[in-house]
Amino acid sequence: MKMIEIDGSQGEGGGQILRSSLSLSMITGQSFRIERVRAGRNKPGLLRQHLTAVAAAKEICGADVEGAVPGSQEMTFRPGRIRAGDYRFAIGTAGSSTLVLQTILPALWFADGPSTVAVSGGTHNPAAPPADFVIHSWLPLVQRMGVDCAIELVRHGFYPAGGGEISAHVNPCQKLSPLSLVSRGDLIAAKAISVIAGIPSEVAERELDRISMHFEGIAREVRTRSSREGPGNVLMVELTYPELTEVFSAFGERGLAAEAVADRLAREVKHFQVSPVVVDEHLADQLVLPIALAGKGSFVTTKVSSHLATNLRVIAKFLPLQFEVLTGAESARISV
Ligand code: AMP
Repeated sequence: MKMIEIDGSQGEGGGQILRSSLSLSMITGQSFRIERVRAGRNKPGLLRQHLTAVAAAKEICGADVEGAVPGSQEMTFRPGRIRAGDYRFAIGTAGSSTLVLQTILPALWFADGPSTVAVSGGTHNPAAPPADFVIHSWLPLVQRMGVDCAIELVRHGFYPAGGGEISAHVNPCQKLSPLSLVSRGDLIAAKAISVIAGIPSEVAERELDRISMHFEGIAREVRTRSSREGPGNVLMVELTYPELTEVFSAFGERGLAAEAVADRLAREVKHFQVSPVVVDEHLADQLVLPIALAGKGSFVTTKVSSHLATNLRVIAKFLPLQFEVLTGAESARISV
């Protein structure tokens, strides 16, 4: 069978090019070779999170892999048959466990039996989907497409300590059904959650006080975790609409006032609320793969981000489909 050639430097030039290639290679049985892995990043090549994703994919489908060593910028992956099982993968750093999980879950949706999988590492990382986003935003949408899967946040993990864990239980399905997200409907509920682990509770209260000034009447939750799960602080706003839930996040940083964290998050949330968009920028690039696997679906998002555009190109290398992208002044509609 021919080898699909993937240019890891195209568009976004990040880890998603590799992760989508792994998911699709496992599912379609097509081999791929990737060059210039993560060429667009400060530290190019395979880092621990990517190596764990490769190792996990290899174990699940008995793949033949060449070049998967730290820092490598070239790799070949020849997949075998997807096998259900009880899997456990450890990143060993605060690398994102959610990104590893999102890489292998689609394959397990089509395995030959039920599976469990646990991934340890970071669960709340900037520049990756926080576990709450995966569980409350992404998962319900793939469940609506017919996926039978539950995901649990076992332990929080923050940069730089890591040590968190996310786990999933999957029952396989035959095929996915189309998903259409073209209007979000009126807001049903809004909630702000401040997670603190090894951080004074006053930080959470100040973040939530400030968020309440931006969004009157918003529900509030302080989630206090043991200092063993930290140190770490993330502030999230969860907006529930009839069609979906969106989760926005901002991270506490040393030297950054709690109020500044809340202001940063509020800006992002308000930007979403005033736009005619259904699916936010991050959810958009994470939904296209399941929608492509269903073979049909559409959604309205903000602009076509670089992550989204790149992911569309990678997906089209593995699946015989064409995406239609209609770009308007304030939104874009993506359809298969
Ligand atoms: P990459 O930069 O190629 O490793 O991909 C990062 C992934 O994390 C993309 O799917 C982004 O949409 C996702 N991501 C980054 N920040 C967030 C966030 N705040 N919420 C949800 N997903 C995110």
